[in-house]
Amino acid sequence: MTKRVSILGATGSIGCNTIDLIEADPDAFDIVALTAGSNVARLADQAQRLRADIAVTADEARLPELRAALEGTGIEAAAGKAAIDEAAARPSDWVMSAIVGAAGLSPGIAALEQGATLALANKESMVAAGPLVLATAEANDATLLPVDSEHSAIFQALVGEKRDEVERVIITASGGAFRDWPLERLKTATLAEASSHPNWDMGQRITIDSASLFNKALELIEAKELFGFRPDQIEVLIHPESLVHAMVGFADGGLMAHVGPPDMRHAIGYALYWPDRGNVPVERLDLAKVGTLTFREPDEARHPALRLARDVMETGGYAGAIFNAAKETALDGFIEGRIGFLEMAEVVEATLEKMTDDCLANAAITLDQVHEVDHLARETARNLIAARQG
Ligand code: NDP
Ligand code: MG
Repeated sequence: MTKRVSILGATGSIGCNTIDLIEADPDAFDIVALTAGSNVARLADQAQRLRADIAVTADEARLPELRAALEGTGIEAAAGKAAIDEAAARPSDWVMSAIVGAAGLSPGIAALEQGATLALANKESMVAAGPLVLATAEANDATLLPVDSEHSAIFQALVGEKRDEVERVIITASGGAFRDWPLERLKTATLAEASSHPNWDMGQRITIDSASLFNKALELIEAKELFGFRPDQIEVLIHPESLVHAMVGFADGGLMAHVGPPDMRHAIGYALYWPDRGNVPVERLDLAKVGTLTFREPDEARHPALRLARDVMETGGYAGAIFNAAKETALDGFIEGRIGFLEMAEVVEATLEKMTDDCLANAAITLDQVHEVDHLARETARNLIAARQG
């Protein structure tokens, strides 16, 4: 039986990797919807190659361009935020959530509401609204499968295990572009330097987040929300080889490690074929050639993002939504050249401090309230950035 598939964020790094797997096994999948931000040319090409039912761009101004590109193909074209939510709500069996940033939250919720299995690359939705995402999945009998490589690794290590026998989990971090840079040098790190990753080929935003360890900070919160671990059970280790993605430690002292090539098609393929395992065309590791795997503790002085994530996990409530929105705004500020590399964490910390009263710890999380908090946190962070520019 073919699986009906939609891909949110089809034109990005995760989206293209997903399509790569689907094109390698074309008879297994039927494509319902593909969505993009503004890269209409790539979206139209993908929609035609995969014979999708509908292609949606977030950018309403580009609808005429998308329509023109799809003319005569029978593929529907649509545009705007609401159209992306509607595309996600179209009946399908499996939806890839690979929009970058908080923009991925509401379409992800829409996909869960129609009962689809949601393959979750968009970690920002778990950080901003984890309890809401889980509750929506449960209420609609929908399955949530992690795609972030560390979380896919944890998920795989937990198969057949009892949750109450888990003692700890360790997620690894490559350390990103500035793994071995001293603190002084980090102050002057440029956009170009932060945008190249030693091991993984990913979108620009997550690549910079890897260099600042904000990506790992998001992943700590994502692990807590997805699996319900206590914050003190989740550890981070720097692992420059990026081959061990995560380890789960059990009551008897045993550690289950997940080892795989640094290629997102493994985690995407695991979610795509789950509960089976497909023949995913990633490199088969030759560990004799690899020889050595190394691990060390992260230096929290150089990476305040990890400390901030621990505070957010302790606070709960809307702290994750504030953290994520402030981080996205600080990242925009760095990309636009308005603040330096180390200032990103300062802006996020100051935003969290200013907005502690809005955290509403223990509050039931609603989508409207997340959007409101997100909006306020972005405004607060933007003002803080402007004040720095003086
Ligand atoms: P990219 O930047 O490569 O792609 C993002 C996708 O989202 C593109 O299709 C983009 O469209 C679309 N998009 C951007 N903004 C909007 C918006 N406002 N509304 C609707 N669509 C939008 O990101 P990645 O593929 O790297 O990452 C996607 C998600 O997966 C992120 O949450 C990331 O953290 C996560 N992830 C990524 C990994 C990776 O290896 N890349 C690994 C683990 C997690 P367009 O192309 O038109 O701009
Ligand atoms: Mg990851």
